[in-house]
Amino acid sequence: MTWIEVASNVFVKRYKLDDLNVAAIPGPSGVTVVDTGGSSAQAREIIADIKDGFGLPIVDAINTHAHYDHTFGNCVFAELGIPLVGHHRIPAHYAEYEAPRLAAWRSEPAREPDKDWGKVVLTEPTELVREARSLAHGGREIRLLPVPRGHTDTDLAVFVPDARVWLLGDVVEESGPPMFGSGSWPLEWPAALERLLAELMPDDVVIPGHGRPVGREFVERQADSLNLVASAIRNAWVAGLDFGQSLGSSELPWPEWMLRSAFEQGFSQLALQLPGGP
Ligand SMILES: [Zn+2]
Repeated sequence: MTWIEVASNVFVKRYKLDDLNVAAIPGPSGVTVVDTGGSSAQAREIIADIKDGFGLPIVDAINTHAHYDHTFGNCVFAELGIPLVGHHRIPAHYAEYEAPRLAAWRSEPAREPDKDWGKVVLTEPTELVREARSLAHGGREIRLLPVPRGHTDTDLAVFVPDARVWLLGDVVEESGPPMFGSGSWPLEWPAALERLLAELMPDDVVIPGHGRPVGREFVERQADSLNLVASAIRNAWVAGLDFGQSLGSSELPWPEWMLRSAFEQGFSQLALQLPGGP
């Protein structure tokens, strides 16, 4: 496996663990890394690969969102004094989801034997992003755009203007169905993609958090599919159907095991807004 140039002087490496995409954006004075891996060991591997591949210092690391597979390597970058950049809601998300997840693993590692979290220290970004802004620690402009809530409420789109490439984390999924869990907003996700589509040009390159590079049309199709799911959740709620009943009454794009948590989260979010429901 090696670094693949996905757009002009922007590189992605696809790691075996979790099939994670990590991006390297070299600038005149150093490399920006996008996502830090799902364990301390993976973070060390990423840092070594950057050194081998580019021979430049790492000037910063950006988290596309809070989930463990994208941020549990943060502690290793922090130990090296590398600034960490992420959405301002990552600390709140950590408290609600990732800290309990890590604590549960520590108390019973056998429950998730594929995880290697013994040395992980939850480490929040040192630079919290609240609104669209630019970053140029490596001497090359990178745009950061907080995405409206969808996959999570911590999604941060990373855009390299001179290469027209977008690193979108798991707001877009290529290697499998979108992941509805650990703080996702299935009813609002389509609008988050519409917001991004308003910025995407037809020939832009889009790098998902997992899987192969895609283009604008793929994002449009994913927005349509997410819209189908959101409508099915709303219709089921209004009709008073439960998950099983609503599955039988609508054509949905992804498997049942993946959609169950979308419905559960959608129902609980609707319960806060609307009377009725199952
Ligand atoms: Zn992920």
